[in-house]
Amino acid sequence: MSDHLPCRSAASSNAPDGSATAATPAAADLAPTDLSGYAEGPREECGVFGIYAPGEDVATLTYFGLYALQHRGQESAGIAVSDGRRLVVHKDMGLVNQVFSETSLAALEGHLAIGHCRYSTTGASSWVNAQPMYRETSAGGGLALGHNGNLVNTAELARELDQPASTDSELMAALLARDVDVSLEEAIVRTAPLFTGAYSVVVIDEDRIHAFRDPHGVHPLQIGRLPNGGWVVASESSALEIVGAVLVRDVEPGEVITIDENGLRGQRFAPATTHYCLFEWVYLARPDHRQDGGSVLYARRNMGRQLAREAPVDADIVIPVPEAGRDAAAGYAAEAGLPFADGLVKNRYVGRTFIQPTQSLRQLGIRLKLSPVREVVEGRRLVVVDDSIVRGNTSRQLVEMLRSVGAAEVHLRITAPPIAHPCYYGIDMASRAELIGADLAVEEIREFIGCDSLHYITLDGLIGATPNERDGLCTACFTGEYPIPVPGEHEQLAQIKFDFDTPASAT
Ligand code: SF4
Repeated sequence: MSDHLPCRSAASSNAPDGSATAATPAAADLAPTDLSGYAEGPREECGVFGIYAPGEDVATLTYFGLYALQHRGQESAGIAVSDGRRLVVHKDMGLVNQVFSETSLAALEGHLAIGHCRYSTTGASSWVNAQPMYRETSAGGGLALGHNGNLVNTAELARELDQPASTDSELMAALLARDVDVSLEEAIVRTAPLFTGAYSVVVIDEDRIHAFRDPHGVHPLQIGRLPNGGWVVASESSALEIVGAVLVRDVEPGEVITIDENGLRGQRFAPATTHYCLFEWVYLARPDHRQDGGSVLYARRNMGRQLAREAPVDADIVIPVPEAGRDAAAGYAAEAGLPFADGLVKNRYVGRTFIQPTQSLRQLGIRLKLSPVREVVEGRRLVVVDDSIVRGNTSRQLVEMLRSVGAAEVHLRITAPPIAHPCYYGIDMASRAELIGADLAVEEIREFIGCDSLHYITLDGLIGATPNERDGLCTACFTGEYPIPVPGEHEQLAQIKFDFDTPASAT
């Protein structure tokens, strides 16, 4: 497998007035072949970044911030930058390093910028839905918006707006842009209470950056300080650190912050009723992300230790399913006093490619993503630690693959409880009908997968591995207890099609 993805030409996206324009049809229509499904885990959502730093190359800093957030979205990337007079957006389909070059970054001059990398959870992976989403405002300026999360009241908002929109993020931008007589900051305070769902948002106009987060704080959004006094906001602390910023605090649930020449100020638009996504701890965030006083890496080690206490087994070695299973496997091995080794190697660059695999390649399935290390696996009784099971097909292929190179026994340990309910807040898992945890008992799942034993961490055990309390977490995909009311599933799917023929996308 080539380790280079073919680059698509990054179509110029800047109109003379600074607004975003359509890419070439070829670029707009070409969607990447998604091989990441062979790893089957829940798909990431989106990453957002913003920076206010006079005297710095904010476009390049945003580029590096997006690099640190690339795991949250690999379909498209974009940056909006302002020099105080003109707002310019550059975005395209592809990975961050495919969308931007030194030349395109050099053209993005200014002292404030936002960036976004996107994974669309409900289709419509196209240039027009790439972000930042640009809108002219009623007052004659412009705004650009980047959104992580998913709104569940899009039909209601579309009626309120009385205009078609193809994504929930476009609806947000349009609703914020329509207030003619107030500042963007004031428009956010007025309008954000209309949004129901999960949203961690960065917005830029010619002069200011704003960042706001839903009252439940479902997904992360953090503030950092640069050594020269500039400010940064980002989905994860790793993106703050990559540009030299120090984590200051979260954007609080229900808070909007504004950054301009007067510094940073915050105000509430709603009281906080925090329900942080439990799956951020399990899978979504990078191990070096810190949240609520805890580290994702340590939380995952704790999950592994907890699994070893809940489900010990007579085994020879512990191996992770890379990457999210790695720290948990280390924790399991330490608690159980077993050796830890890499029994599976991830083919890192195969996740998204523009090359269509042939039918015979498709039949390789998981082997396109993971390769077993015979020297580690052969003749051994394995504890295999993975983050989650969605449909079960990948776990089944994984067990077959390990047995094919001589595994004596395969004991699967999972750092999430069974996923039995879909996520409506921005994580693409599967429909309820596709979730193996929705209908089958654990023993039936074990039989389907073909492993010697299977244990999912208990919900209490998982929560105990994090610094959060249960009532401060969203656990809906495990429990069906949705902290933000969601219309019935069928109605929800109908809402997703609210833009006539264009599926709305979550970010
Ligand atoms: S339903 Fe699951 S994945 Fe979605 S926000 Fe809640 S905990 Fe996270």
